[in-house]
Amino acid sequence: MRHNEETSVISQLIDDKTARTLRSLLDESDRIVILTHMSPDGDAIGSSTAMQRMLAAMGKEARIIIPDMMLASLRRLPGAKEATDATRYPDFAAQLIADADLIICLDFNELNRIGRLAPHVEKATAPKVLIDHHLNPSDFATVTISHPEASSTCYVLFKVFCALELFSDIDKKTAECILTGMMTDTGNFSYNASDPDIYIIVAELLRKGADKERIYREQFETHSANSLRLNAYALLNKMEVFEDAGAALIILTRAELNRFHYTKGDTEGLVNRPLAIPGVYYSAFMREEDGYVKVSMRSLGKFPVNELCHDHFGGGGHLNAAGGEFEGTLDEAADLFRSLLETNKTKYPTA
Ligand code: 5GP
Ligand code: MN
Repeated sequence: MRHNEETSVISQLIDDKTARTLRSLLDESDRIVILTHMSPDGDAIGSSTAMQRMLAAMGKEARIIIPDMMLASLRRLPGAKEATDATRYPDFAAQLIADADLIICLDFNELNRIGRLAPHVEKATAPKVLIDHHLNPSDFATVTISHPEASSTCYVLFKVFCALELFSDIDKKTAECILTGMMTDTGNFSYNASDPDIYIIVAELLRKGADKERIYREQFETHSANSLRLNAYALLNKMEVFEDAGAALIILTRAELNRFHYTKGDTEGLVNRPLAIPGVYYSAFMREEDGYVKVSMRSLGKFPVNELCHDHFGGGGHLNAAGGEFEGTLDEAADLFRSLLETNKTKYPTA
């Protein structure tokens, strides 16, 4: 088979037994739902739509359920617009989960990452499959394929498709779904992207016809005028740089967001910008939400923003990209961040 030759240079990710178990779960199921995390990103929607398309190639109709709205740029992915938004249709989403005979969970490690859907998944009797790349997956699934060393769930998923001997079923659109997740979770291959297998997979996806330039433009270089102005304002007026601590902080109040007609996704990437400053090795962005503060952090080298978010800001994530939901006011969150700068220097490894 062609895929075996072409993908033999890629290290295998799942063992034969897991592959067989997964294959038979897919083969035996007819009412499949695919779930992903809150505020779904390119990897969440890319992996969900790729999975849905592969199931379609196997003659199975699967439904994607998202806990809340996705970014406009992701609605372009094939099948994304038809996903059920559980915020808008909570009862329908709950019913789909209750009726499912297989629940496929993509790009999250704990049920609290799917918000309002969590209790329904806990109650559901259907077997669950988890495919993910976040640290410390909780033990809720029948089959868990978790690879924290992988840069994206889409990367893991490509290898899973190969292990299931489905390589030849990956068409251009499915390739574009997978490539979207691989690109968005690595900042277009600029961080967390030194694994050579990434580029072997990219080569295979390009051979399938994926339009990498178009995906790049849609996902990275498309912004409204308001969004461009908001980001410029944040960098000009709101960026605090703590040179001695190697840190930076940007906070935006609700009033500031409103002034620039903020919509979801408008500040995507903003948190990365201060890392350009020599000597700054971690950066936080805080956005005032109703009743809580959305925190986003990024770092360079060994500084574990996932631990900082976990220990103080109600969240977690990856070593160099993490976030949380802080219960308190924006000023409280910012003051806490500033008060931790000294402690962080000794508590955590630095760059
Ligand atoms: P972002 O800053 O892009 O919102 O999130 C970056 C990463 O941080 C995500 O991929 C996810 O792993 C993690 N993350 C973001 N928000 C939360 C949160 O509220 N809770 C937890 N546990 N992780 C989060
Ligand atoms: Mn991901």
